[in-house]
Amino acid sequence: MTPDRTIHQKLCELASNLWWTWQPEVTSIFREIDSELWTQLGHNPIQLLREYHSEKLEARARETVLHARIHGAYRRWQEYMQSDRTWGDTHAAVLGDRPAAYFSAEFGIHESLRVYSGGLGVLAGDHLKSASDLGIPLVAIGLFYQEGYFSQTINPSGWQEETYPDADPRDQPMEVALDTQGKPVIVSVQTRGETIYARVWKVNVGRIPLYMLDTNVPENSEITQRLTARLYGGDQKIRIRQELVLGVGGMKALIAMGIWPRVIHMNEGHSAFAPLEMIRRRMKQHGLNFDDALRETATMGVFTTHTPVAAGHDRFDNGLMDEHLGPLREELGLDHHGMMALGRVNPSDHNEPFCMTVLAFNCSRRANGVSNLHGVVSRKMWRCLWPWRKEEEVPIGHITNGVHVSTWLAPQMRFLYDRVLPLDWHVKSGEPEVWQGIDDITSGELWETHESLKNRLIGYARFRLSRQAERHKASDAQIARIQTMLDPETLLIGFARRFAPYKRADLILRDLDILAKIISDTDRPVQFLFAGKAHPADEPGKQILQRIHNIAHDKRFEGRVVFLEDYDINLARHLVQGVDVWLNNPRRPLEASGTSGQKVVLNGGLNLSISDGWWAEAYDGRNGFNIGNGLIHADQGTQDTLDGDDLLRVIRDEVIPLYYERDADGVPHEWIKRMKRSMKTLGWRFNADRMVMDYVSKTYIPASGSTSSALPFVP
Ligand SMILES: *Cc1c(COP(=O)(O)O)cnc(C)c1O
Repeated sequence: MTPDRTIHQKLCELASNLWWTWQPEVTSIFREIDSELWTQLGHNPIQLLREYHSEKLEARARETVLHARIHGAYRRWQEYMQSDRTWGDTHAAVLGDRPAAYFSAEFGIHESLRVYSGGLGVLAGDHLKSASDLGIPLVAIGLFYQEGYFSQTINPSGWQEETYPDADPRDQPMEVALDTQGKPVIVSVQTRGETIYARVWKVNVGRIPLYMLDTNVPENSEITQRLTARLYGGDQKIRIRQELVLGVGGMKALIAMGIWPRVIHMNEGHSAFAPLEMIRRRMKQHGLNFDDALRETATMGVFTTHTPVAAGHDRFDNGLMDEHLGPLREELGLDHHGMMALGRVNPSDHNEPFCMTVLAFNCSRRANGVSNLHGVVSRKMWRCLWPWRKEEEVPIGHITNGVHVSTWLAPQMRFLYDRVLPLDWHVKSGEPEVWQGIDDITSGELWETHESLKNRLIGYARFRLSRQAERHKASDAQIARIQTMLDPETLLIGFARRFAPYKRADLILRDLDILAKIISDTDRPVQFLFAGKAHPADEPGKQILQRIHNIAHDKRFEGRVVFLEDYDINLARHLVQGVDVWLNNPRRPLEASGTSGQKVVLNGGLNLSISDGWWAEAYDGRNGFNIGNGLIHADQGTQDTLDGDDLLRVIRDEVIPLYYERDADGVPHEWIKRMKRSMKTLGWRFNADRMVMDYVSKTYIPASGSTSSALPFVP
């Protein structure tokens, strides 16, 4: 028997595994230790516990009666880690001890680990959390961006400014990954001009290890040390080198650690170089030629594409490819055009650049889009790769994205779920029957819970606004006015996501006179809350942001249109838990899925969305609000006008009347009916457990069943 751990040791252990990030109870323990410091540290428990060393923590725990809760949380964590009765134990046993390897350029797990920029990363994070909950043998590979994506501030003229706070690895829940000999893993990738070295960090996400490669090592030149410093921060040359480290370096790291994956899952094309390293190993170990090794490797490949526009896919020219892939290509026995052919739609067109998406398709027998509609769009878009097939027979299916329930569900709402849903609902939340009990929540209770979450959001928004105002040296009067901004009784519509132009954050601003009239109606007013970052190089995106910022500071809209700076997972959580309505108005069909609206569903908010991505298969006429008729216009301007007009119409004729139709107690019964219908019909479907179960049964298991992946592993 080991002696009992102190509460400090227990909390340090809890902090070292990101499991805590989807345990509201553990989060609240950290917060209660010192809420001011917790906020100041960006919700980082490792830094918090450094401040609250043993004795200081003891004293504080005694004061706040935390002992029992800490012991309880620790016990639950132990049980979770040791549980062997998971969905995966029954349904994914054939994967056995050789895991699926999930590659992604970004992972959005928690605000304190800033290695994500938006939906793609959050989706990857949710995938890992559900894989952990379900007990799927899976390992994840990414890059450690020490400066992450950027922090956003908006200057007085409304222009976005970027800063890059440096994350010290010692403040992160990372440990050095070890190879089969117990030594720190260092991998190297050869280009024409240099050898790029990378160390490997291990982060535990529940039961799932996430390995992050990092080129910040002394073996590298100063420039290469910074190669992985920033996410999506550089030019094409940085991009290809990052992707080389992610794919080839990532695969080398796995093998160095004795992990020989059974499935290679590429989340977007950034990691499509990974199979090439696997092919090289197979050629060397099993004496295969390139074509046979490619065929065998492709049987274990699973590729998820996310980009419904041709221009959005990574493409590299001849020179970049030769410089960076030349040495590997020679080992594969290919000439330059043989290599380029793997990434070309037309292999004999020597001017066509190398496309990572095409490589990914060529290296995976199973490919999918991320919603039903995106599957259709992808088959049309990539039919050119299978010109002999009919469009419906292009081998790209779809698995619609979902969100991780425990991460996005507000604790107050969870109490209601616990009361009306089956006892084990949280391990079966991907099953429809489980959600039928939503009807048993009384209208009054559901409304009260929603109202309290909305109040919490408004309080938080005011706090953020005050902080913004102080930074801009606002007057006392201005800061005082913030405390009256956003009204709990007024319909609250939220919009937050990356400010990519196709998402049209400013669609609602097309007719300012009508908008002004709608929001300032004396009986039935409306208020909007915006947040989001534009990519640093995206001028049109920054202009859209500037427009919204300026409207928010215009007298006509002040206090009714509000912009919150520095959108991240923390702000996202507050928003999706507290809004009445979540607005999503992309230019169809450019939103491959979208996931933020799915987070809103869980908390009782209603979606108001263009029929695109997940919403095109979710809306049934009574579980939210739909904008537009699903048609696509050849002329973008026309499409924007029609959608903008319809958006205002739906808000005025459908959303506002339903929201303000109250009984004598002020309860909007028809609205609540819609809330329940949304939760009941959508909660189980657009759910990361359901998504991961689909990936396992439709892709991982078939991919692992191939004879080739059963070839022996010779380290
Ligand atoms: C969920 C989420 C997204 C995804 O937004 P969509 O545009 O709806 O796909 C982006 N950023 C953050 C921080 C999120 O939490």
